[in-house]
Parts: sequence; structure tokens; C-alpha cells
Amino acid sequence: MTALGSLIFKGNVLIVGIDLGTTNSLVAVWKDGGPILVPNALGAMLTPSCVGFSDGGELLVGQAAKDRLQTHPRLTAANFKRYMGSAREVPLGKRSFRPEELSSFVLRALKDDAEAFLGEPVDEAIISVPAYFSDAQRKATRAAGQLAGLRVGRLVNEPTAAALAYGVRDAGSERKFLVFDLGGGTFDVSILEIFEGVMEVRASAGDNFLGGEDFLDVLVEDVLASAGSKAKLTLSDLSPNEQQRLREAAERLKCALSVASEADLSVRLRDKDIAYRVHEDRFMELCEPLLQRLRLPVERALRDARIRAADLYEIVLAGGSTRMPIVRKLVTRMFGRFPATTVNPDEVVALGVGVQAGLAMNDSALDEVVMTDVCPYTLGINTSQQVGSNGNGFVDGFYLPIIERNTVVPASRSRDIFTVRDGQSRVAIDIYQGEARLVKDNIPLGKFIVEVPPNLPAGGAGANVRFTYDVNGLLEVEATVHKTGAKESIVIQEHSGVLSSEEIRSRLQALASIKLHPREEARNAAIMARANRLFEEALGPARMTISRALAQFEAILERQEPHEVASAREQFQVWLDQFESNPLIDA
Ligand code: AMP
Repeated sequence: MTALGSLIFKGNVLIVGIDLGTTNSLVAVWKDGGPILVPNALGAMLTPSCVGFSDGGELLVGQAAKDRLQTHPRLTAANFKRYMGSAREVPLGKRSFRPEELSSFVLRALKDDAEAFLGEPVDEAIISVPAYFSDAQRKATRAAGQLAGLRVGRLVNEPTAAALAYGVRDAGSERKFLVFDLGGGTFDVSILEIFEGVMEVRASAGDNFLGGEDFLDVLVEDVLASAGSKAKLTLSDLSPNEQQRLREAAERLKCALSVASEADLSVRLRDKDIAYRVHEDRFMELCEPLLQRLRLPVERALRDARIRAADLYEIVLAGGSTRMPIVRKLVTRMFGRFPATTVNPDEVVALGVGVQAGLAMNDSALDEVVMTDVCPYTLGINTSQQVGSNGNGFVDGFYLPIIERNTVVPASRSRDIFTVRDGQSRVAIDIYQGEARLVKDNIPLGKFIVEVPPNLPAGGAGANVRFTYDVNGLLEVEATVHKTGAKESIVIQEHSGVLSSEEIRSRLQALASIKLHPREEARNAAIMARANRLFEEALGPARMTISRALAQFEAILERQEPHEVASAREQFQVWLDQFESNPLIDA
């Protein structure tokens, strides 16, 4: 291990920690004995998980892409983390991209930011994923890393990372944490225990399709309901551009409700000015069904960990949506006390992944902290059960759990299975993930057949089926036939949503031709995107004002004098801030 400045290298490998979020992504590095966040080209820690193409065909990532969501919806994509692990492609300009390719663009930008910050090439990343991510979603995340030219050392569950951001300071003591992580698209609850320097996840539960976006949908619906008088306005009545404008206005409204008890919105839809005002009590009432859904995973995690709420040392909030007072109130009510908020909930996961990166680089400051994790769901196989009391009536379709949910990983467990018919020569190993009693209600993962010695009575032949689940959430299944000892080399059929190594190689080549917008120009691209968005939002004289300001800035850009551009950009930024709060100022 060689040290360069305050950075510690393992065999010259520099590892960063990345929180690849639905809405925003962050990158952290281990420096001077602690994790720190890396700013992007715009100086912000949060990079919106948005990608798109400029009119010149260059790739835009982050704020610039986010601002163009509205002005160039066909050239911009967001929220693609929700489709990770599926084969769904998102059209973008003339091409379409898989979710892991879109994610790889975000990872590439974060890698560039970290390299600019550190002045060193980054080889490897540890990436956080929701605890509830399935095998296919985890594989897709790894593929995204590879497509971004990063080796993905390990995937870490987001709540585990959040606890690590708090827990590492308390490495010597025995404490239980509950991490309540509500992001843009996912909800995770984890119960973790730190004991003698070992961090163990005792239980995790969650909802893959519940997040801040759903709270936003509630507001959008209510704005539309209040806007339509006789003829009810629905989202499908609006153009994509109007929908986007409404969502952005509702997003600002939602965030405003995090700092004030009442907030309002005005937006022009279908040539009609719509003014909407909402009080937090009404917002809470509208969100009641969502708030109810937040309760269930908390109760299940506590039950699984056999822990009472009173035993918890700390309730850690993570994810941007835990800034919402209605969520904080729910948490406080549920636990009868206030949650911990000393680390910013938007940053806590990234800082924890930064700690994990430090661990991976073997920094001595972390020697005493060991991490364990759990398998978030039960893994098992299909079996037959005898029905009725007389004789041979076996019915198949029953789930035999092999690795139970919340087992500490890496885990390896085996069960013996036996033939159910006389002379049976083959046994099907049908692998599932889920908690239901019948396999039809669980998620099929793969299937293979083993040959067993024929000509034996029912129950005379069988196999030992071993499941091995590793820290990256990857599952291997092996069957050893009784009596003969023959081992089957087993390949679990990959999900249709997962890219093979071959496909990753060929896509990597195709992506190589897509150039990231040059970093030094990213600030200009972002400010132009913002100004254009404001132009579209404005009307009448305000439009003229912003158009004049844009033209002035464009003229300076054309002169290509770096100092002049930098100072004009700074002034333009200040002017845009003022314009956004008062659109009637002069250029
Ligand atoms: P994350 O996935 O952790 O980046 O969280 C993103 C989500 O947090 C989005 O749905 C945002 O709308 C939401 N969010 C961020 N800041 C706030 C805020 N101040 N008030 C309410 N929601 C917020």
C-alpha cells in the first residue's frame, strides 16, 4: 500500500463511493481520515440523475440535462433508476438506451468530477443500491459501472451506508439504528446493530415503488382537480411540455412546504392561468394513503429483527424526501421521539459509501470497523407436498425457503430434496425469490434439472441443493446428487433484463462514440439550459427581457475569452437568480 498525500491507495487503486440515486447522485472520497463529498463542475454536491443530448449531439449530464427536460423532452431522460434490471429502452433523440446505459452516463460524469477534484485517475467505485434491489437490478448497476469504465468493487445497500455515516463514530459501543430512507423513487427501512466494531444489518424491508415522486403526483393531481371547473383537466390533456412545467412547479411547491406551512403555485395550462394554494394539513390529508404505506415496512423490519422501537439508539433519516415535515411528523409519532438529523439526509448515503470506499482502501482509521449485510429477501425452490393422508398424492408448487430473508451475507445454506415417484430419474430445481407459501406468488429466478439414479423407490434418490448468496447480492445454486456425489454445474438463467458480458462489451464500443460535454463548458451549457427553460416559462415582456440577456451572454461566449466568459457567467447567474424571483427586472 502506498500513500500519496492524504490519499491511501491499495496497489495504486483509487476507489470512490457513489450514491447513484433516482433523482440525484453524489460521489464521495475518503480523505484525511474521513469521507468528503466531491463537487461537480457547477460546484454542487448533488448532480441530478438526468442525461440528455445537446443540439450538437454532445452528452449532457446533471443540471444542464435537468433544465432541458422541459425545453427538450425528447432529448432528455430522468428517473431511469426505476427501470434498472428491465430491458425497457428509453428513446433519446435518434437512439434509444437501456437504463444501465443512461446510468453509466451519470457515473461517467461523477468519475470525471472525482478525477478533476483529486487530480488522479479513478479506477474503481463502490456503488450504493436500495436494499430491496433484486438480483437483476444489482447486475444492471454493476453493468452501468462497467459501461462507465469503472470497476465495481462492491455494491452496498443504501441504508447500510447511511448507518455507516453515523455509526463509524460509535464503533466502540453497542447500538441499534433504524434507517428510514425515503428517496425519489424508493423506500427502505433497515435495522442495524453495531457491536464491538461490527456493523450488522439485522433486518431490512421496503417498497421499491414508493418515494418523493409519489408525493409529487399527489400534488399534481390536486392542482389539476382544482383547475378544471366543469371540464375536468387531466394530465393527458396537457402537452409533454405543459406536463413537465406543471411537475416542476409542483416540485417547487412540495419543497416550499418543507419550510413553510402554506405555499402556492401559479402555472399556465391550456391558455389558462392557474393559481393553487395548499396548507400542510391538506397536503398531509392528501398523502395519507402514502403515509400509511410507509408504516408497513417499519413494522415488518422491527418484527423481523425482534426489536422494540424503544430499544433503538437512533432513527436515522436518509433520502431527500425525509425533509418533508409530514414525513418527519409520521416518524416522530411512530417512534415517540425525534429522528437524528445531524447529517444532511441527501448526503448521508454518499458519505457512508465514502466510508466504505475508505474501508476498501484499507485505511487504518477504519481497521476496527467490519461490515456485514443481509440478504433482503428469501430465496428458495419449488417442492412437492403430500396432500391427503392416503398414499402418494404429491402436489407441487410449494415454496421451500433455503436462505431466509435477513440472513447475514455472505451466506451458504443447503437443503436435501428427494424424489416423490418410484423410478423418478430427474429432479427439477426451480429457483424463486419471495416470501409467499406458493411459488406462483414469488418471482422465478431460474431453473435447471439434475439426473438422479433411476429405479429407486420414491424418496430413495435425491440431491443436496446449496444456495450461496454473496455480499454483492449475487446468487449461486449448486446441486450434489446423493449416492453418486455428482455435482451439477449450474447456471441460473439470467433475467431478460440483464446484459451478458458479451453485450456489455459490444455496448461499451457503441457508447465510446458518445462524448461527454467538455467539463470546462459544462457551466456554460448549464446556464444556457436554465435561461432557455426560464424563457419557455415566461410570457410577454419577461420573455423579451430574458431573450436580451441570453443574446448578450451568447455574444460573449462567441468571443471565447475564458476570463470574460467566466465573469459574464457569474453576472448572468446572479441576474437569473433575481429574474426567477422577479421576472420583471431588466437585462
Ligand atoms: P434522493 O433520491 O435522496 O435524492 O431524494 C430525492 C427526492 O427528495 C425527490 O423526490 C425530491 O423531490 C425530494 N426532496 C428533495 N429536497 C426536498 C425538500 N426540501 N422537501 C421535500 N422533498 C424534497
